Amino acid sequence: MVENKVVFITGAASGIGYEIGSAFAKQGAKVALSDINEEKVKEAADQLKGEGYDCMGLVCDVTKEEQIQNAIDQTVEKYGRLDVLINNAGLQHVASIEEFPTEKFELITKIMLVAPFMATKHVFPIMKKQGFGRIINMASINGLIGFAGKSAYNSAKHGVIGLTKVTALEGAEDGITVNAVCPGYVDTPLVRNQLEDLAKNRDVSLEKVLEEVIYPLVPQKRLLSVQEIADYTLFLASNQAKGVTGQAVVIDGGYTTQ
Ligand code: NAD
Repeated sequence: MVENKVVFITGAASGIGYEIGSAFAKQGAKVALSDINEEKVKEAADQLKGEGYDCMGLVCDVTKEEQIQNAIDQTVEKYGRLDVLINNAGLQHVASIEEFPTEKFELITKIMLVAPFMATKHVFPIMKKQGFGRIINMASINGLIGFAGKSAYNSAKHGVIGLTKVTALEGAEDGITVNAVCPGYVDTPLVRNQLEDLAKNRDVSLEKVLEEVIYPLVPQKRLLSVQEIADYTLFLASNQAKGVTGQAVVIDGGYTTQ
């Protein structure tokens, strides 16, 4: 489906981003993993290279436009083209609106809304020239419904769905599709840590938190796996999905249906 395609992923040193890189590599794609965390992104790229895949690790803080441009340039320099951009880097902070530090709000929206805009701006000319491009923005069910305490995360995720629609329109005649993926609760170290903290605060087991807090919200009564999210991005990047553009596709075990 994506053999020989070149994919550039932000925030790819861990969690969903790494899993997407691994899934593309296993399908024969050439993968540029990028992340702000130098040590972890190097480890992640070494891991895939050690498994025999064609991969490079790049340090890229997505709040810095010149670093995004530089990482994209390095990818094109090594692989000759860029077919798939995955805007995945993310950061979360939970606090009431009165207690939410403005700098934190600005940082979170910069990482999850301004950065996808900047990366899209820089890959568009490359993709237009190729007559082919796939841009996938990692949104969330937080981009569709409100969650108290997540003003920055929610605003950024709602915003990136808007950006997805606009850029889908702008790329439509040039073979570029742009879609947003909206996962519910995914079983990542980040989510596990949050649930473990909650369990500690309540002095109960992790299983109890899942049963009492999470599962009542999720009709399928489970956390999603990172592989499920990666598989969906593989589909969106493929030729089979050429008619899918401007969409916010939801993978949430039924969360937003109730
Ligand atoms: P994660 O924390 O494992 O991964 C996020 C990555 O982004 C990290 O490697 C981190 O170093 C990187 N990052 C943070 N700031 C950065 C910056 N300024 N520049 C470059 N990289 C930066 O989290 P994850 O759960 O894998 O989340 C990945 C994406 O999926 C995020 O956009 C998140 O909002 C979204 N998402 C996650 C879930 C979930 O349940 N885990 C659900 C819906 C959406």
